[in-house]
Amino acid sequence: MPKAQETVLEIDLNKLKQNVKYLKSKLEGGTKFLAVVKAFAYGSDAKVIARYLAGLKVDYFAVAYAEEGVALRQAGITTPILVLHTLAVNFESIVTYHLEPNLYNFKILEAFVDVVGAKGIKDYPIHLKFNTGLNRLGFAEADVAEVTARLKGLSAVKVTSLFSHLAASEDANERDFTLAQIDAFKRIAARVSSAIGYSPILHMSNTSGILNYPEAHFNMVRSGIGMYGFGNSEKERVHLKPIASFKTVISQIHTLNAGQTVGYNRAYTSQGIEKTATLPVGHADGIGRIYGNGKGYVTIGGAKAPIIGNVCMDMIMVNVTGIACNEGDEVVIFDGTTTSAETLAASANTISYELITSISQRVKRVILNDD
Ligand SMILES: *Cc1c(COP(=O)(O)O)cnc(C)c1O
Repeated sequence: MPKAQETVLEIDLNKLKQNVKYLKSKLEGGTKFLAVVKAFAYGSDAKVIARYLAGLKVDYFAVAYAEEGVALRQAGITTPILVLHTLAVNFESIVTYHLEPNLYNFKILEAFVDVVGAKGIKDYPIHLKFNTGLNRLGFAEADVAEVTARLKGLSAVKVTSLFSHLAASEDANERDFTLAQIDAFKRIAARVSSAIGYSPILHMSNTSGILNYPEAHFNMVRSGIGMYGFGNSEKERVHLKPIASFKTVISQIHTLNAGQTVGYNRAYTSQGIEKTATLPVGHADGIGRIYGNGKGYVTIGGAKAPIIGNVCMDMIMVNVTGIACNEGDEVVIFDGTTTSAETLAASANTISYELITSISQRVKRVILNDD
């Protein structure tokens, strides 16, 4: 692989394929696989990832917001796309691009039915979300009778799926809570299906649900983080390979005397003769200020170099005292091997989801193993 000469996010599609294969190996035959590609496919590249996954014949895609689905349609994706967080302002683009809305409360259900009804549409695919304990989006179990009453006799929409979301599927200490969520969803699904007279697709599991709760697989699972190579436990981590490597290069090396300072607000003071490297990556690229002042680090020739001083918009400075390195050398911010996004994220008390989805669109994406 050529060495990075600028800040790049390398995306290895072969690893994506292996992760999907591993996750699918946990499913019974016939269980559908929905690939979550929201937030630029977790900070990677939604179009590239979705095209590749469409080639792997995933059954569904999900995005958070309608505009993300529009971008996939414009990129030629024809697989069904579930919009997880439907907003009424997006109804027109949802219908124009044949996206499938999650309808999670009476207001949005009624409004969507009115919009498709007024267009004379029949059987528009909708997805109903029920809240079983996350308390984020979804109808309550107590709403079931009212929901089914409102659907009665409606030909404009067809309930393609019923779903819910687990609050703590990665946490073994919350097993009882999770099992209670699964039970609640089973009760809801049975009542809705019987009232509407057909059986929609049922789905509830995110990546950790796939791995920890086979009883929550139902007819389809929804995976995000696992496809991108992260689990929420050691057990998962060994089987999943991070698809992305975030790399940069040394722009300049300085030698400082004791007492000289580095960066804005003179936040770092050299303790003796020290060597620093300036790197072309900053908070506008996704290295938040929280990683500055010794918390985060990069890896140069296998050695850890802490970020010193404040993170700038377009640059960081790292301490390379005692590290053999030169201007132009490659720097690893994270990859799947020497430095993981999880440990870097943990250095700033956050999680891989946040670090990877923060990598901005300014960073060049380099696609590997696209075959
Ligand atoms: C983001 C999201 C997922 C994917 O979760 P992972 O933990 O990344 O697998 C699944 N379902 C819903 C509703 C989501 O918002």
